[in-house]
Amino acid sequence: MVMWRTQAYRELHTSVAEVLGARTAKEFEKLRVHTVGDLLRHLPRRYLSGTELTDLATLEEGEHVAVMARVSRTNVIRGSGGYPAQSRRGGRPSRLEVTLTDGRGYLAVTFFGRDHLVDYWERELGKGVRGIFVGKVGRFRDQLQLTHPEFVMLDAAGAIVGSSEEKQRLATMSRSGLVGMYPSTAKLPTWKVAECCRLALATLSGADDPWPDWVLDAADVMRQADAFAAVHQPHTLAEAEAGAQRLRFDEAFATQLTMAYRRADVATHTAVRRRAVPGGLLDALDARLPFTLTDGQREVCDTLFAELDRARPMQRLLQGEVGSGKTVVALRAMLAVVDAGGQCALLAPTEVLAQQHYATIRALMGDLAGGRLLGSPDAATDVVLLTGSMPAAAKRSALLRAASGEAGIVVGTHALLNDKVQFADLGFIVIDEQHRFGVEQRGALTDKASARPHVLVLTATPIPRSVAMTIFGDLDISTLAELPAGRQVVGTVVVDAALRPAWVERAWQRVAEEVAQGRQAFVVVPRINSSDEGVGVVELAERLSAGPLAGVRVGVLHGQLPSEAKEATMAAFAAGEVDVLVATTVIEVGVDVPNATMMVIWDAERFGISQLHQLRGRIGRGEHPGVCLLISSAMGQKSALVEDTIRQRLEAVAATNDGFELAELDLLQRREGDVLGAEQSGSRSSLRLLSVLEHADVITQAKEIAAEAVRRDPERTTPGFVDAVVATEQLMAGDFLELS
Ligand code: ADP
Ligand code: MG
Repeated sequence: MVMWRTQAYRELHTSVAEVLGARTAKEFEKLRVHTVGDLLRHLPRRYLSGTELTDLATLEEGEHVAVMARVSRTNVIRGSGGYPAQSRRGGRPSRLEVTLTDGRGYLAVTFFGRDHLVDYWERELGKGVRGIFVGKVGRFRDQLQLTHPEFVMLDAAGAIVGSSEEKQRLATMSRSGLVGMYPSTAKLPTWKVAECCRLALATLSGADDPWPDWVLDAADVMRQADAFAAVHQPHTLAEAEAGAQRLRFDEAFATQLTMAYRRADVATHTAVRRRAVPGGLLDALDARLPFTLTDGQREVCDTLFAELDRARPMQRLLQGEVGSGKTVVALRAMLAVVDAGGQCALLAPTEVLAQQHYATIRALMGDLAGGRLLGSPDAATDVVLLTGSMPAAAKRSALLRAASGEAGIVVGTHALLNDKVQFADLGFIVIDEQHRFGVEQRGALTDKASARPHVLVLTATPIPRSVAMTIFGDLDISTLAELPAGRQVVGTVVVDAALRPAWVERAWQRVAEEVAQGRQAFVVVPRINSSDEGVGVVELAERLSAGPLAGVRVGVLHGQLPSEAKEATMAAFAAGEVDVLVATTVIEVGVDVPNATMMVIWDAERFGISQLHQLRGRIGRGEHPGVCLLISSAMGQKSALVEDTIRQRLEAVAATNDGFELAELDLLQRREGDVLGAEQSGSRSSLRLLSVLEHADVITQAKEIAAEAVRRDPERTTPGFVDAVVATEQLMAGDFLELS
């Protein structure tokens, strides 16, 4: 339990169960609303005027809406099978078809039921001039429609016709000037969310704002308690927007404040300067590299060398597409540190990746990595691997060499974070794919050195600038934009398995042909075991071996295998002893097998845009071009909207190899919410209101004010600042980079 310093943070962190009861709280979990603050930041998607008709052209399938419209026509269609007309007795129920209009467009509404009900509804609908209809927008025969909406009719003066309890709920909605339409679920229709927000608002004391007045002035935003009232119960749209602006600022400011204090903290630490010496390992490596560095690689390396030679710890993020050559850059920087007498740690998110890095580095360094063996070059250092699953003896030896300083480079997983791991002089830490690590873990490792080590984070997930500023705001950023020459293009094709099952057969044939030419392929499957959702790695591998890929050496790789089995399979694939590797996303990053030229991604709709891009980066790494097939049978089986989203996403991946473009698109689509269901669920992102792409200006402003805050309050004593940093660190430790 956090002891919040401000009343505002205390109130906003009250659980919704306390205010709304356990049952309602449970429903809200589906909307990722757990606290009063979550609820109050659950903003209406739009506002409905209690007096104006809704623009029917703005409705979208799948949306829960309340529509104010006129009844333009009603039509009763009598069911068959006699009275009582119920489908399970063989006859069809009667139905009432209603056409609503806003004066321009139309919306179909349908009610099914026994004759007397249908007659009753028809009478009710005739009673008013306009009505409010609440329900979920569906589609029938290419037309948007509401089925069985709740409704209430208004007379010419706008008063409610009739007085049942149901109608009173609707009445509250139309009474105020503007009514918020909330993202909702079946059990939590928008009017109920509105009611809960009203209850939550009532619990706020309106006590002091968490930010000092100078911050509110500088940001030119209203006070927090006013902002919550403004977004949930506005009188005008301008008021609602002003409230939303304050809440967006809060998100941006809390993050930027956290980053600003982290930066300030790093700046107070000293690092040991590590200056490369000529004639050492770095020069020896350069002399044996089988390629020329790109200009981009050179530039980034120069930046790194300059920063390693400073008494302030480096805190840098290097982003670059898969295959852009980050590893070589990191290795050159590490060797500069080793030449200067320091040690380096390279941290990978999984054992498979740690092994890959180890193998890659040893291959690049050749006998330079041979340690002080007889016959090794003078400058040679030891490169050791240290992972949790290593045999005890090997582990002991690695630990010893790290502690003695013999090992210039130690490669490992978070096993490196273990207390038992000691370094003689840890000068530089390279973290691959940092978003898989919590921030605390980064801290744990840096604590191993008496002076702060320099830190370089590598990520293959391209991050738009405004996003980077938010989530990696405490790091300086370098980018490797170009791919090394000779990199092969990966042609990507979307295969609609529902529409063209024959193409799936053809895909396996293609794999077999590729193998016949001596090349290798990946088949990526979203799950290990078969389930309702579809076939898993294990079963698909069996089916392929028994059918289209008979005679081909098929390997299986997934996270639940013992690590020796994983290693053996990976090694066999790398050595060309396995032709086709059927795997989960364990192969997502880092796996480097240049002879792999083909990838088939099964149930491709299960993966995000960036993830698909990342996955296909595993092929086309050698002399032959790559082919990636995105197979999906979800198109044509779900609603038109979902189908469109899936198709768009897959086509986008097929259309471009530009990771930045895809990353932006990915973010935009994720913001669109829950169209695809489960995949999007999980904990909330701290960046909810703040669309980092749209509101880059808010982030920039918040960043400036945060810097000023650190200048004014370097010791961080302002209670609101303390709370904001604690809350943000908590969020980041939990659900960071839901984005990537
Ligand atoms: P990343 O880590 O960014 O995915 P790597 O560093 O693993 O990329 O590089 C991918 C492949 O390209 C490796 O086989 C590497 O040896 C090779 N490579 C790196 N830099 C160059 C270059 N300048 N020219 C040609 N090949 C390169
Ligand atoms: Mg790499």
